[in-house]
Amino acid sequence: MTITGQSLIGAMSVRGTHGAFHGINARTGETLEPAFGGATQSDLERASALAEAAFDTFRETPPETRAVFLETIGEQIMSIGDALIERCMAETGLPRARLEGERARTVGQLRLFAGVLRNGDFVDARIDPAQPDRKPMPRVDLRLRNVAIGPVAVFGASNFPLAFSVAGGDTASALAAGCPVIVKAHGAHPGTSELVGRAIQQAVRQCALPEGVFSLLFDSGLSIGQALVADARIKAVGFTGSRAGGVALMKIANAREEPVPVYAEMSSINPVVLLPGALGARGTAIAQQFAASLTLGAGQFCTNPGLVLAVDDESLRAFERAAGVALASAGASTMLTPGIHANYVKGVERLAEHADVEQLARGQAGGPFDAQAALFATTAQAFSADSALREEVFGPASLIVRCRDLDELHGMLKSLEGQLTVAVHLDHDDRAACRALLPTLERKAGRILANGFGTGVEVGHAMVHGGPFPATSDTRTTSVGSRAIERFLRPVSYQDLPDELLPQELRDGNPLVLARRIDGVMNRGENKNI
Ligand code: NAP
Repeated sequence: MTITGQSLIGAMSVRGTHGAFHGINARTGETLEPAFGGATQSDLERASALAEAAFDTFRETPPETRAVFLETIGEQIMSIGDALIERCMAETGLPRARLEGERARTVGQLRLFAGVLRNGDFVDARIDPAQPDRKPMPRVDLRLRNVAIGPVAVFGASNFPLAFSVAGGDTASALAAGCPVIVKAHGAHPGTSELVGRAIQQAVRQCALPEGVFSLLFDSGLSIGQALVADARIKAVGFTGSRAGGVALMKIANAREEPVPVYAEMSSINPVVLLPGALGARGTAIAQQFAASLTLGAGQFCTNPGLVLAVDDESLRAFERAAGVALASAGASTMLTPGIHANYVKGVERLAEHADVEQLARGQAGGPFDAQAALFATTAQAFSADSALREEVFGPASLIVRCRDLDELHGMLKSLEGQLTVAVHLDHDDRAACRALLPTLERKAGRILANGFGTGVEVGHAMVHGGPFPATSDTRTTSVGSRAIERFLRPVSYQDLPDELLPQELRDGNPLVLARRIDGVMNRGENKNI
């Protein structure tokens, strides 16, 4: 498959004329061919009009049709073969094994949503049958199902160029819900984006779906992305990236005549709490696991452990030394973009120059855009006094906060903003201390882990990859796992509609054999009367 630098608008390939930009070789900083034409306002207009035109047909396709569509996208992605991995390696600096794993994860996510569609529970069908004889007033017949919210704009992430990008979790869950998707390609991996976009375009064709189900726009600045969020036909936005970017898009969506939800995943420092029993018993082993988690993927994981909280005693100091040794031998790896590398260097310098911060270790230096790991320590008092110490440094850097006692540690947790994950390392004797922290942990994070690290996000039914602001813009949702589909659905109630006018999911006799809640009680198709 050839990379052309064209936006994909429905079934067409269109060379944008609003400026141009190139992909960059992450390792060398060299320009990669071809140039990508920036989409124009009229390109956006065409993509939005097609999405709007496709919506009513697409949302009412049988779930099986959409399941096959998602599986076809997966097959098309696999059929690109090594060209996808090689282009992605060049654009992101990520190694082959990581990207092959990420491709499998991307296809796995698409299959997961195919399963969600076949299972049918996403419809959340509910029937409160009429009670004409109820006194003093008869009860109406009420039936509810979830419907797709409308065309969705997706902004992929730089750090997962496959699994959180053009055919990533946001796109898969929106398409599963029955929403056409317009992706604004991430500027850090445009060639990868085009290849995957063409795979989706081909799947649309192969499944004979309306062409407006999918479009991919390249933006030579920020204006097309912003206009996309402002477009009245877009009914929800999925975003993964920086806090500044997410908040900017939230503002645009809120300022619209009809405000729409922005599901943004942004910033998280993922605190790791080391309780005294665990630290005393196996501090060195935890330190080694911590260093491995911190440096994984050059620290460019949204669940990277950027903060460690522990009571200051000899066990903590031994942990610091062991983590320092492990990090000092950690090799440097290439960051996703020269810009992300420059921000990382700035963030590390800010910590290193802070009067109340002690530098404990630095990793190995490497090439011009390689991240050198960094470990720092400070006191709880200093951490409380300066909010800048709580800001995410995107990359393999972490800050240890030495606390006087468990009460002070608990106070530090209470003072934090929302997080994607919080990890607690505990032994049997630490359980009472952990129990005391749990209510705070639940208020702060989307996922609470014991004796592990947040890097490595399982894609399943019980996963929450979300959390209170600024981890995400909507604390009720997840962007990973089957519950991600809920972001792109809305409930509609039908009162007293004749059976033949009801959607199939709610008709008498349950023609789709769905699990339905009848008068609040789950019925798996056995009650044939309704
Ligand atoms: P980013 O700069 O926010 O970019 C994300 C996407 O949004 C890109 O497509 C970008 O366009 C677009 N964008 C950003 N600001 C915009 C604005 N004001 N108006 C319109 N569009 C805008 O983030 P990034 O560089 O990809 O990633 C680095 C940062 O993201 C790190 O700080 C990291 O913490 C965070 N991150 C968080 C998670 C998470 O799950 N929480 C995951 C990955 C990254 P361009 O392509 O044109 O720049």
